[in-house]
Amino acid sequence: MLILVVNAGSSSLKYQLLNMDDESVLAKGNCDRIGIDGHVSHKTADGRSIDADCEFPTHTEAFQKLVEVLTTGDAAVIESMDEISAVGHRIVQGAEVFDRPCLVTPEIIDQIDDLRELAPVHNHAHALALRACTAVIPATTPQVVVFDTAFHQTMPPKAYMYGLPYEDYEKYHVRKYGFHGTSHRFVSAALAEAMGRKIEDLKIVSCHLGNGSSITAVKGGKCVDTSMGFTPLDGVLMGTRCGAIDPSAVTYVADKHGFTPDEMSQYMNKKSGFLGVSGVSSDNRDLTAAAEHGNQRAKLAQDILAYEIQKYIGSYAAAMNGVDAVLFTGGIGENSWEVRESVCENMDFFGIKIDRELNRQSRGKLVKLSTPDAAVEVWVVPTNEELLIARDTLAVISK
Ligand code: AMP
Repeated sequence: MLILVVNAGSSSLKYQLLNMDDESVLAKGNCDRIGIDGHVSHKTADGRSIDADCEFPTHTEAFQKLVEVLTTGDAAVIESMDEISAVGHRIVQGAEVFDRPCLVTPEIIDQIDDLRELAPVHNHAHALALRACTAVIPATTPQVVVFDTAFHQTMPPKAYMYGLPYEDYEKYHVRKYGFHGTSHRFVSAALAEAMGRKIEDLKIVSCHLGNGSSITAVKGGKCVDTSMGFTPLDGVLMGTRCGAIDPSAVTYVADKHGFTPDEMSQYMNKKSGFLGVSGVSSDNRDLTAAAEHGNQRAKLAQDILAYEIQKYIGSYAAAMNGVDAVLFTGGIGENSWEVRESVCENMDFFGIKIDRELNRQSRGKLVKLSTPDAAVEVWVVPTNEELLIARDTLAVISK
């Protein structure tokens, strides 16, 4: 059974075609630069590929290209879209409306679009992609939406409410939503399996560290707190996002620069974080290289990240009254031994102790890093959001 997984942004349409009989990926790619000029990159599992410029004025043309590369030409993997049993879409913001995956209907697309105020960069693009997909794929192919925020809907009010007047929550839905939920759900379940324990019995701190980073406290398989908030700007320092700062610093800096609210938002989302602190790059690899050459600000940016993660581990140990395991995932969490080493240093009070050599050798693979005498297990767990979206999609259409 074939499932197509789509991750649409405002200018891109990333996709994977999975064979759910063995959960293998048949092909993946990206229809990029929608509304600008257009480019498709497509790769099949057996090594065939397409890399070409095209015209994508809207998501509809991008979807048409996606269908074209899957079904025709040298890198085709199917003959017709009828072979695909369902399409699963990643949706960033489901707010309090969606706490689980569901089948797509025109009303559901409108509801996702209506949430765009809460996720200006993402939700409207998702709605455009859903409408484009509906127009292009066979009418008989079901579509399913899987929400990044859904996993975090189990947080108690004391974790998701802000200290603003309550009316702002009631009227404007201002609260912590959390993001990366599909990843946190996937890796925490994979970790429980690797540990040979029931997830219901575990207290896990899940560190998803990439261009965007979030830390989640997972108790008994459910999210009890998470570092991202109303938007994905909250929490730890990221590639270009500042993470949590004193709200008064926001109004002060906006005033000093003469920024409008939108400009200040851009400043905190696109010009801050690794990039802003280091002045070098938003990419962790560039920071590591610069730090090795003695760049103090690059080192500072990485030190801030490691320190903030340590504090999240401490606070989530308090929130869960204990912690059994800490896991690292995402581009940085899976690959950067340097960041993992810094996070795990001086954490013996919490029972965290890792095998330094093993950590240095570990990249992108499921592995336990903690020493046998450590009270808390530390693992690298590769994430696979597309696979979980495909599994969720299959579960919804099988009901
Ligand atoms: P993601 O958003 O999950 O794709 O992660 C992107 C981040 O992962 C970037 O900051 C990269 O520098 C970082 N990253 C990817 N591969 C490596 C690597 N081999 N070593 C260190 N950092 C890496």
